[in-house]
Amino acid sequence: AALWAGGQMDPIGAACMFNRAAVKPDEKAGDGIVGEWYWFGEQPFMKVNLNGKRFCNESGPYDYMLHSTVMQPGHTYCDIFDSDYVEQVKQMNEVGCCRLYPFDNGSPSNMSINLMPKMFFDPLLEKGYLQKADTPEELAQKLNIPVDNFVETFNRYNQMAENGKDEDYNKEPYRLMPLKTPPYYGIRTGAWFLATLDGVRIDTNMHPFREDGSEIEGLYMAGDCSGGFFSTSYPNLFTGLACGRTMVEGRRAGMLAATGQA
Ligand SMILES: Cc1cc2nc3c(=O)[nH]c(=O)nc-3n(C[C@H](O)[C@H](O)[C@H](O)COP(=O)(O)OP(=O)(O)OC[C@H]3O[C@@H](n4cnc5c(N)ncnc54)[C@H](O)[C@@H]3O)c2cc1C
Repeated sequence: AALWAGGQMDPIGAACMFNRAAVKPDEKAGDGIVGEWYWFGEQPFMKVNLNGKRFCNESGPYDYMLHSTVMQPGHTYCDIFDSDYVEQVKQMNEVGCCRLYPFDNGSPSNMSINLMPKMFFDPLLEKGYLQKADTPEELAQKLNIPVDNFVETFNRYNQMAENGKDEDYNKEPYRLMPLKTPPYYGIRTGAWFLATLDGVRIDTNMHPFREDGSEIEGLYMAGDCSGGFFSTSYPNLFTGLACGRTMVEGRRAGMLAATGQA
């Protein structure tokens, strides 16, 4: 509607992906597959591609992970964790919306570690997404990835974790923990669309403007539909930046519309 009224889109379109969607062992991300919601996917456990090999530092922000994933066969990887995950997630000390323990200042996280089995693991096991196995060999078979490659990767990862140094991708030692408590778990994971990063350009009065720069009065825009903010990149280490932007802009637009002042 804003474009119809003469508004201008950001000159460069951009979008961001999110690594919390699971597919089944006989599926790859994309190709019309919707998949299942998998909140746990952001935790920086070992991740391997469909050749059974690691391909990046799993500890990066989620867009980094996904840009690495897109380069992998089938745009898909497997997320691997073991039965010691409760303690390991605590030590990984994730930030932002994927954090599963209260923050240091006592604020609750979006989701709790205690919810994971009931909300995700049990239903995903039942539906055939999450795989559970007593050995890495069995896990690779169930995930439908090359067993030899995976076992080699698994053993190398554990050895590097014991040594406290990731020789391949330099993951921080406190997030590099050996997987040695069976049963082991694995799940094929890919990207879901998170957000558009472009939008209709607005001025500081929250109005979209025409090509000649003139304001479209009476029309206010805020939040995700507006542009000029992310500049093609979603800096997700600024936790709350997107929600914060929406709230600040929404408040300002509302006040301007109601009183002419903000
Ligand atoms: C899974 C996920 C996790 C996220 N995590 C974070 C995070 O941790 N931190 C953070 O800051 N941000 C996060 N974000 C982004 C943040 O949630 C959004 O940027 C923010 O909610 C956008 O708010 P909004 O009001 O601009 O848009 P929306 O929340 O999308 O609101 C738009 C509203 O318009 C309604 N609508 C659409 N079309 C019409 C129509 N024609 N007529 C009437 N109504 C219509 C929609 O139903 C919707 O209610 C996350 C987003 C997702 C999807």
